[in-house]
Amino acid sequence: MKCRHCGAPLEHVFLDLGSAPPSNAYLTAADLNAPESHLPLKLHVCERCWLVQTEDYARPSDLFGRDYAYFSSVSQTWLDHATRYAEMIRRRLGLGAKSLVIEVGANDGYLLKHFVAAGIPCLGIEPTASTATAAESLGVPILREFFSKAVAERLAATGKQADLIVGNNVYAHVPDINEFTDGIKVALKPGGTVTLEFPHVMRLIEHTQFDTVYHEHFSYLSLRTVSRIFGKAGLRAWDVEELATHGGSLRVYGCHSDDARSTSPSVGALLAEEERRGMCKLAAYSDFQARADKLKDDLLVFLIEQKRAGKHVAGYGAAAKGNTLLNYAGIKQDLLPYVCDAATSKQGRFLPGSHIPILPPGVLRERRPDVVLILPWNITEEVVAQHRYVREWGGQFAVAVPRMRIGCA
Ligand SMILES: [Zn+2]
Repeated sequence: MKCRHCGAPLEHVFLDLGSAPPSNAYLTAADLNAPESHLPLKLHVCERCWLVQTEDYARPSDLFGRDYAYFSSVSQTWLDHATRYAEMIRRRLGLGAKSLVIEVGANDGYLLKHFVAAGIPCLGIEPTASTATAAESLGVPILREFFSKAVAERLAATGKQADLIVGNNVYAHVPDINEFTDGIKVALKPGGTVTLEFPHVMRLIEHTQFDTVYHEHFSYLSLRTVSRIFGKAGLRAWDVEELATHGGSLRVYGCHSDDARSTSPSVGALLAEEERRGMCKLAAYSDFQARADKLKDDLLVFLIEQKRAGKHVAGYGAAAKGNTLLNYAGIKQDLLPYVCDAATSKQGRFLPGSHIPILPPGVLRERRPDVVLILPWNITEEVVAQHRYVREWGGQFAVAVPRMRIGCA
């Protein structure tokens, strides 16, 4: 296999999670009687450009072809994040009625609705029918396609280039990152800005967030690698912010390479920190598998101990990262009988691989579990705040990453 950015041969697998079904392939009761596809789940690091990437395995259309059940508006934490971003960027770039905002992966309109409300023209690009329909019902215009260079060229030919292009948690999910970045270059007006948010690979390594690895998440990015990918496409990273979302993300601000804006000192500072933490040396990646295995073992030991003590453990949050964790650990219903999730689109379905049923959160009050294991640890505070009544019967919250912890928050 060759690096998806620079084409160098990939010789370093530093995480092998065996094989797993696509993380967002939630199953219906009828699906449980049919075979389920499992694909290898491995991470490579490129020794030339340091892009961390999943192994090639299948056509990407196999992953996103079915009705993808993720709706951004289900998480209040994420909605608040979008509200703050929209306000900040509108002021920072001075966006108004003559501007155009394009969001790639507009999902259910969770973000662009703020620009619609402010009278700023916008266009969402979203291939998934269910979320696109939800966005349109909020008054957000949607182009129902995957973003690509060809789509960008078509838009540019009709005079549609953006003052702001937003990509929140899409950049790491595109199979051909070079082509996608070329598309951004084409879709961006002279003087325009692109902002991309993605989990920071430096934090993934630091906090052993191996459960954020799944097939649909093709690239694990550092500022250094993104700067390099931008450079090849004729773009430049002129600012960067570190965010708390998803256990540590970056928001990279890009512009055309020849843009007059100067580059913020925060870019150089973060590049230096990545260097200092060894992101460009194989040693930084060498003990990751052992650390991931320890986390997995600790979770298994915890669940087995709870079962032997006659305790009842419920899962919370049917998120992609939970599926990676449960499938790697081989956890089934005997150790975790069900997982609650607020998304009605997931309720009544089953987690891929583990086949653990997904139930509405109201079940917690009925069944009164001793422990609620929060799988999407990045929204622990939100889950605990919404379900603090669990403590009324002596229930406790637990998380497994970055270390097994009970009684958290
Ligand atoms: Zn490379």
